[in-house]
Amino acid sequence: MSKHIFVTGGVVSSLGKGLTSASIGMLLEQRGLRVRMQKLDPYINVDPGTMSPYQHGEVYVLDDGSETDLDLGHYERFTNSPLNRHSNYTTGQIYLSVINKERRGEFLGQTVQVIPHITNEIKVALAKPAGPDVDVVITEIGGTVGDIESQPFLEAIRQFALDVGKENCLYIHLTLVPYLKAADEQKTKPTQHSVGLLRQIGIQPDVLICRTTRTLAHDDRKKIALFCNVPIEAVIEEKDKDFSIYEVPISLVEHGLDALIVRKLGLTASDLNLDKWHDLLNRLRNPQHEVTIAVVGKYTEHRDAYKSIYEALDHAGVANRAQIRIQRLHSELIEREGAERLLAGVDGVLVPGGFGERGIEGKVDAISFVRQRGIPFFGICLGMQCAVVEFARNVLGLEKAHSTEFDKDNPHPVICLMEEQQDVTEKGGTMRLGAQPARLRPGSKTAKCYGSEEISERHRHRYEFNNAYREQFEAQGMRPVGLSPDGLLVEVVEVASHPWFVAVQYHPEFKSQPTRPHPLFAGFIGAAVQHRLAVQQVSS
Ligand code: GLN
Repeated sequence: MSKHIFVTGGVVSSLGKGLTSASIGMLLEQRGLRVRMQKLDPYINVDPGTMSPYQHGEVYVLDDGSETDLDLGHYERFTNSPLNRHSNYTTGQIYLSVINKERRGEFLGQTVQVIPHITNEIKVALAKPAGPDVDVVITEIGGTVGDIESQPFLEAIRQFALDVGKENCLYIHLTLVPYLKAADEQKTKPTQHSVGLLRQIGIQPDVLICRTTRTLAHDDRKKIALFCNVPIEAVIEEKDKDFSIYEVPISLVEHGLDALIVRKLGLTASDLNLDKWHDLLNRLRNPQHEVTIAVVGKYTEHRDAYKSIYEALDHAGVANRAQIRIQRLHSELIEREGAERLLAGVDGVLVPGGFGERGIEGKVDAISFVRQRGIPFFGICLGMQCAVVEFARNVLGLEKAHSTEFDKDNPHPVICLMEEQQDVTEKGGTMRLGAQPARLRPGSKTAKCYGSEEISERHRHRYEFNNAYREQFEAQGMRPVGLSPDGLLVEVVEVASHPWFVAVQYHPEFKSQPTRPHPLFAGFIGAAVQHRLAVQQVSS
């Protein structure tokens, strides 16, 4: 029978529950346990696919096409837990399912209520990842204890222990112990209150993970233990990491968290082996090169909007022993101040995915600049579409060329709505989503990076390269080197004469792990390092 770990958060939001949950998952995996990760989100959207990145950060796409919370990105980067549509539930999804059942008459005669109908539905969701081949399911509860929205989830995880036995469940509460400068003290009261709220709903946490900026004094741990009714060894410090998020698991081990979980849940686990992880941190700490990569997008001021892109760049830095300086450049700024001024000196430009017309011309200008100067370029999804538009305008001479997403009646619609999207009217979950296979042209840069001509990558788009222009592009040097197996959809384009100009219709950033960087990101950063070295040679 699978054991269950529930991770809740208290005091404030943004404590890094996703990162902590992912770290716990990684540590348990490194102790030989089979782990599944899950997140429950208290908002009413059925999934985050319809939310703006400003609201919610990146929408993380799974192989099966689920559009999920970005914390699932942490899960996939830290663990090997297979994720699917049961890995992320929202309040909206739970209610939708209950209401559909009610309409079908499954509750005939009953009054449908939060308890037991909604909580039962949540409990079904909690049990989904469990199974004979799973040792531990880790479920992160979004939101902060005390929010109205998360109440049904907390009630459900309380009941869950009654159903499966308390010995099979572990409640971990992540909290904040702030430092007050005026008093020169760390304050434990918010943690006490937050645990108090949990206990009011019948959950006694087994472990407290305390986020701090400073080392937690023994006396403070003792105080927290006493007031929150947990043994002192279950008060775990998680101090801010200013170097890398990949330090988090190491620090949790130093405070004995993995051993504590194994003991409390009565798991049979092997010794911990963190060699690969230490090697990763060593490489991060000892770079041999430094490159500046401009990410030219529209959501650059939101830390989490391109989360997986920034992470994948870091992974590729590790692979190339390069420190990556990421310059987040708003494409509208390029429109105002010019690519020349803003991009001089960068070693590579990445244009990520996106929607909507605002800032498009800045992206096109940035691409034009790097294409003509031989600066490495990596386009992703909308970034590829902008690269195609730029090439059409400036090389094919189709001055007005555009995507029909932004200009419906364009005379040169080089990017157009996919056939399968023509009759789609609903917005939720209706894009071309999830893992799709593609074939790469032998000898292309892309095929060389992958070391393979058959790939599978995740998608999230409605528009595509317009096949009517394929031959023209090929003849002028922008080659469609990746196609869907039926040959109908262009998945990758390259400019053959350029040192590294690769643009993809899919989202490679979702498949990069710190210890297994994505081959295209690694190739891009490798090219950026070469570019830097060449520039240095010229100037010395
Ligand atoms: N807006 C574009 C499309 O729908 C690109 C999508 C994306 O970048 N994810 O095709």
